[in-house]
Amino acid sequence: MTRGELKEILGDRPDANLRSKQIALHLYTRNVDNFADMRDIPQALRDELAGRFDVQPLSTASHKTSIDNVDKLLVHNGDHQVYECVLLPYENRVSCCISSQVGCPMGCKFCATGLGGFDRNLTAGEIVGQYLTLQRLNEKRISHVVFMGMGEPLLNLKNVVKSLRLLHDEVGLSYRHLTVSTVGLVPQIYELAKEKLPIHLALSLHSPLDEVRNRLMPVNHKWPVKEVVQAMKDYMRATGRKITIEYLLINELTDTPEQAHELARIIKGTPNVVNLIPFNWVDTGEGFSRPSNDRVRAFRGILASKGVNVTQRVERGHDIAAACGQLAGMHKGKFARRAPSTVLPVVG
Ligand code: SAH
Ligand code: SF4
Repeated sequence: MTRGELKEILGDRPDANLRSKQIALHLYTRNVDNFADMRDIPQALRDELAGRFDVQPLSTASHKTSIDNVDKLLVHNGDHQVYECVLLPYENRVSCCISSQVGCPMGCKFCATGLGGFDRNLTAGEIVGQYLTLQRLNEKRISHVVFMGMGEPLLNLKNVVKSLRLLHDEVGLSYRHLTVSTVGLVPQIYELAKEKLPIHLALSLHSPLDEVRNRLMPVNHKWPVKEVVQAMKDYMRATGRKITIEYLLINELTDTPEQAHELARIIKGTPNVVNLIPFNWVDTGEGFSRPSNDRVRAFRGILASKGVNVTQRVERGHDIAAACGQLAGMHKGKFARRAPSTVLPVVG
């Protein structure tokens, strides 16, 4: 709930303004997970609210910690529709990766979530709840949030926008530290631009060629490369943020020199960052594999030689299947997954 909504549920109490401020502070800044601990609120009001609301609706169904210190939680709200969130501590900051939907209907061929089907959208409370739950595991403040867990955030735009505002207005995070990743839904990109939130929007492009992207991502039949890249450029113009492109490297499919050149060409002249993500192994039945480090370096080299700013996704949590695209609620047992036998070296 926003502060305005908190005030509303307090009705016409004369102290509604003050109490809503206090409750918001407890919920979002102090991360208090029960009404009993909100000691500056009168007991009678705490009891009344405890009877009407639940301030910690998320239950943790599973909690795993990887050898490289990544925590992956599988959470639910009692309905056994589980979704995943991941805590990523780095040397100089703490980040987290959260879900926007239970499952995902977009059906990308390389993604465990996409292969597992779709259940429902998450509410803003469930989205912010993931942040708050992860924050309780860590002493240092989580300063960065990426919407790269389960689901397509722009299919759940209203709740995602509300959660972005809550993370900014109430939790106190900088919009610049919030990243929403999208498969590329053109009308929703324009809708999000209208909100004028200075967040990062990242486009999962994965190939500059329609014939390749069509094979990987059904969405491309509806919104092909040219249209989605144009939408990102317009988004950039409206918000002043750089274009961020996520690029999945699949061996001998998306990692060819031709595609590196074409990618550089279509984003030329626009401030941009290309984030390379070598394919994380998921048994998709498509026979996809991860390129060798040499092929990754060659692709990266071509982009850099064309003046593109290239970074490479820091990959962690392989041993607990917490890496990108591997979040699928394994309890469903819909398909098999394995962690690669080695954690590959990380660049950038
Ligand atoms: N639905 C949004 C955000 C969630 S997916 C989107 O698609 O952008 C987050 C990122 O993980 C996307 O860039 C997605 O393409 C990537 N991803 C999915 N499956 C992957 C896999 N097997 N290996 C590496 N990255 C993957
Ligand atoms: Fe959905 Fe993103 Fe996975 Fe595609 S990559 S299926 S959009 S979660």
